[in-house]
Amino acid sequence: MIVVMNIDSTAKQIEAVNKQLDKLGFKTHIIRGVNRIVIGAVGDRQAVDSSLEQMPGVERVVPIMKPFKLVSRELQEENSIIDVRGISIGGDSIVIISGPCAVESREQLLAAARFVKKAGAHILRGGAYKPRTSPYSFQGLEEKGLQLLKEVSLETGLPTITEVIDEYSLERALNYVDILQIGARNMQNFRLLKKAGQTGKPILLKRGMSATIEEWLMAAEYIMCEGNDKIILCERGIRTFETYTRNTLDLSAVPLVKRLSHLPVIVDPSHATGDRQLVLPMSQAAIAAGADGLILEMHPEPGKALCDGAQSLDPGELVRLMEQLHKMMPAVGRYMAQ
Ligand code: PEP
Ligand code: MN
Repeated sequence: MIVVMNIDSTAKQIEAVNKQLDKLGFKTHIIRGVNRIVIGAVGDRQAVDSSLEQMPGVERVVPIMKPFKLVSRELQEENSIIDVRGISIGGDSIVIISGPCAVESREQLLAAARFVKKAGAHILRGGAYKPRTSPYSFQGLEEKGLQLLKEVSLETGLPTITEVIDEYSLERALNYVDILQIGARNMQNFRLLKKAGQTGKPILLKRGMSATIEEWLMAAEYIMCEGNDKIILCERGIRTFETYTRNTLDLSAVPLVKRLSHLPVIVDPSHATGDRQLVLPMSQAAIAAGADGLILEMHPEPGKALCDGAQSLDPGELVRLMEQLHKMMPAVGRYMAQ
C-alpha cells in the first residue's frame, strides 16, 4: 500500500508514520516527489486499521492493486533516474551502451572502446562470463575479462557494464564495473536477483526470453525489495514462432512498461534481431516508442568476433547509427545524453 503524506508534513511526522509501519511488520520505502511525499509499505495489509490514516501528516492510505509494488508507477509517479558516473538514465536524454558481446583481448576491447567513445556512445559493454547455449562455445575470459574492462575504463573514461551469471561472478564483478547486467537466462534466478538487490549497484535487468511483462516486473521487484532502486529494465526480444529473426522485439512492451513502472526502460535491438541490418531501424523504432536508451553490440571486426558477430555493428555502422538517431530524436522530444 501507499501512505500519501501531506505535502507540508514534517520530517517528524513522516518518521513517526514510518516507525509505526515498521512496528506493524512493513518494509518501507520513502519517496519524495515534486508534488507529494509517499511511503511505500509492503507487508500484510490486514495488520493496518484506520488509526494509521488518522496519524498527523497522513493524507490517505491507498492500496496498490498490482502484484509488483515498489517498481510500480502507482507508488511513484515520477520517472526514476539512475545515475551512472554522471550519466542519467531515465530522464529526457537517451543513453547509448555499446561494445562487444564478449571481451576477447586487451587489443579488441580497447579498440572497441575507442570506437564507442568516438561515435558518441556513453557506456562500454563487454561480457566476461558468457551464458552460452553450447558448452563448446567461448565462455568468456572471466576475471581476466573484468580486469580488462576496468583497465579500458580507466584509459578511456567510459563507464562499463558486464553480465553476471551467478553469485560468484556477481561478487567478482562488483569491484570492476559500474553496472551489473542480469541476462535473459537469469531473469528468474531469484537468489541472484536478491544478491543484486543487496549490492546497491545499478542493475540492468533484461527481460527473460519467455517472460511476461508481469514476471519481468516481479523480477525487478525482487531487486528493489532488497533496498536497491537503481534498476534499468531492458527489452531484448522474446521467443516466438518466427525464425528469420533471433527473437521478436516486443516494442509495445516499452510504452506499456513505462506506464506500469517508474523505472527506465532500454532496448537491445542486437539480441532482439540477431541481424546487424535490423539494428538501425529497430533502434529508431525503440526511441520513437519511448525507450530511454539502447544497448548495441559492436565489434572492431565483426567477422572475427568470438560471439554474436552477425548482430554486431562495425565501427562505421555505429557512427552512422548515432548520426541517424541524432536526426530523429528531436521529433520525439528526446536528445542524446552528453
Ligand atoms: C548479452 O547481452 O550478451 C546477452 C547474453 O544478452 P541476453 O541475456 O539478452 O541474451
Ligand atoms: Mn551477445
